[in-house]
Amino acid sequence: MAFQKKRIAVMLFFTAFWFYLFYVMGTVELSLTVAVLEIGMGIAGAALIFTLLRCVITPLFFGRAFCSWVCWSPGLFDLVGLYRGKTNLKKNKWLYLKYAVAAIMIFFGVRSLLAGNASFPTREVSMMKDISVITLGLLLAFPLGHRNFCRYLCPPGSLIAYFSKWGLLKIEGDQTKCKQCGTCETNCPMGVSAKIYVQNEDRIYDRECILCGKCIDICPEHALKYSFKRDKNTW
Ligand code: SF4
Ligand code: SF4
Repeated sequence: MAFQKKRIAVMLFFTAFWFYLFYVMGTVELSLTVAVLEIGMGIAGAALIFTLLRCVITPLFFGRAFCSWVCWSPGLFDLVGLYRGKTNLKKNKWLYLKYAVAAIMIFFGVRSLLAGNASFPTREVSMMKDISVITLGLLLAFPLGHRNFCRYLCPPGSLIAYFSKWGLLKIEGDQTKCKQCGTCETNCPMGVSAKIYVQNEDRIYDRECILCGKCIDICPEHALKYSFKRDKNTW
C-alpha cells in the first residue's frame, strides 16, 4: 500500500491546512487563494478564476487527483482506514446525479452574482457543509462505499470529473503483465474497472477515477503505474 501511505500523509497535511484556514483563521481569510484573487477583481472574478483553476485547468494536468490527494471532507474516511478492503462497486445511472447538483448550484450562484448579493460561504456554512458531508458519508459508507459523496453528489467534483478525461496524469496498465484477475476492479473505491482499460491497451480515462493509486498498490502482477502524457484517443 505504498501509494496509500503517501496519499494519507499528503491528505493529513491538507486536512491540517484547511482546518487552520477555515476554523482558526475564520471567514475573512476563508481561503488564501480567494483572498488574493479578490483583490481588485470582485467576487464574480474571484469565483470564476478559482473555479477555472480548480475545476478546469488542474484536472487537465492532474485529472481527479485533487479528490483523493487533497480534498479532505470525504477524505477523512480514508484517514480512518476505510480505503482498505474490497468494495465491489459497480457503475450505475445515479453517478450522473452529481452533474445535476452542480448545474443547480451554478444556476443559483450565477443568479446571486447577477443580483449582486453573492458571497463566499461563512465559517458556519462551511462547518455545516463539512458536518453534513461527514455524517451522510458515514451513514452511506457501507451500502454505497466510503466515497459515496464523491461518486454521487459533489458539485466541484463533478466538474473536475468532467475535465479529467483529458487530463495528462492517468493510470496506465501493461497488458503483457495483466492476468485479468479483477483485483483492481473489486477494490476500487470509485467502481472503476482498470482491467477493461488494460485489456484494451488504454490508459484509464474513466471520469470516476480519482487517481488514488489503490489499484497500483494492490495489483499482484505490478501491471499498473501512474503516467503523465497526452492520450491520442481522448483529445
Ligand atoms: S489487478 Fe492487475 S493483473 Fe489483476 S486485472 Fe487488474 S491490472 Fe490485471
Ligand atoms: S481505478 Fe485505481 S486509481 Fe482510479 S479510483 Fe480506482 S483504485 Fe483509484
